[in-house]
Amino acid sequence: MSAVLVVNSGSSSLKYRLIDAESEEALASGLIERIGEPSGQIHHTGPHGDWEATQSIPDHTAAFRVMLDAFGSEGPSLDENPLAAVGHRVVHGGKRFFEPTIVTDLVEINIEDLSDLAPLHNPANLQGIRAARKAFPDVEQVAVFDTAFHQTLAPEAYTYAIDAALAERHRVRRYGFHGTSHKYVSGAAAEFLGRPLEDLKQIVLHLGNGASVCAIDAGRSVDTSMGMTPLEGLVMGTRSGDLDPAVLLHLARRAGLGIDDLDELLNRRSGLLGLSGHGDMRDVRQAAESGDAAARLALDTAVHRLKHYIGAYTALLGGLDVLTFTAGIGENDARLRAEVCAGLEVLGIRLDPARNRSGSHEARLISADDSRVAVLVVPTDEEREIARQSLQAVGAG
Ligand code: ADP
Repeated sequence: MSAVLVVNSGSSSLKYRLIDAESEEALASGLIERIGEPSGQIHHTGPHGDWEATQSIPDHTAAFRVMLDAFGSEGPSLDENPLAAVGHRVVHGGKRFFEPTIVTDLVEINIEDLSDLAPLHNPANLQGIRAARKAFPDVEQVAVFDTAFHQTLAPEAYTYAIDAALAERHRVRRYGFHGTSHKYVSGAAAEFLGRPLEDLKQIVLHLGNGASVCAIDAGRSVDTSMGMTPLEGLVMGTRSGDLDPAVLLHLARRAGLGIDDLDELLNRRSGLLGLSGHGDMRDVRQAAESGDAAARLALDTAVHRLKHYIGAYTALLGGLDVLTFTAGIGENDARLRAEVCAGLEVLGIRLDPARNRSGSHEARLISADDSRVAVLVVPTDEEREIARQSLQAVGAG
């Protein structure tokens, strides 16, 4: 049985999942953390359950060795599950990469070249790719880009209204992110409903620590809330989302904040955390329930922004058939889903409270029978989508 190894490489971590090429089931998964620190950690889940170890893991090449050792000692055997491909999550593909791409030296150079657009992510993704090419020199490596699904955006959707030549020179435009998730979830939603993807106007709300909305017409992304970077759009765990750009000018002039201060403020100290002191939605909700006004405002602001995008995207799509919630908050927070949908009856959205409260972890319908729009919860599975796309790229899908 052949398999795909899906790798998500961060600057000090490596997440992996071994996926059966046919059944798409996970054969093993793991997380290696604290790469580069004296006490690196590996957590591997294989056929015999969970296994953990602590050891020095100086770099990503060492991390791959540790992972291979874990497969060797804990299983499953990679000899019995030969790799058809290694699929890598790569955050930024710029406008160059619009589909899953087999890694060559030139592709590596291009991913590196895009690092100024994603300085935290692309270099880390590339470290994983380089280490994987060393560890598996005979297996095709495929880069699957978070931005690729949004390459169908029309110019009027991806253009910022600033000096065109300056924007072109510095690659300033909207790219969008979470594309792998939006693609997977919109496909799974159509499948769940038993309707052709081509017939559906969909909005997907990917609500995790990072959050974005995507408008999808006939399976193609037509707009999305994240922009040149994953900072634009919704109120997130620690990111501000949409903001009048003049706020930055004002804070630079009046509060004396420099570029790095502003970067830190907007990416790490804003969003739910900035408003309430809590970046995790469960904590925000608990605080709001015990009467904390700042937490309540954080929730209300996040919900207000979500309604704003649902309305805007329904208009852009010229109607709506399916609204789907996904990711940590979207899949688990029934109250948030109810708050977002409340008052949207004018758009044909009507929840069924009992269906919405069900704690199922499967794809499910949560709208009422008389709701014109089907409202769904669909668990996202980016790894499975990366495996699918990797197999297609190597001609085995
Ligand atoms: P990431 O973007 O890191 O992949 P996830 O998709 O795992 O994020 O989502 C993380 C978010 O999901 C956190 O804000 C967490 O509080 C939230 N979350 C997880 N479970 C629940 C729950 N039962 N109720 C509310 N929020 C939840």
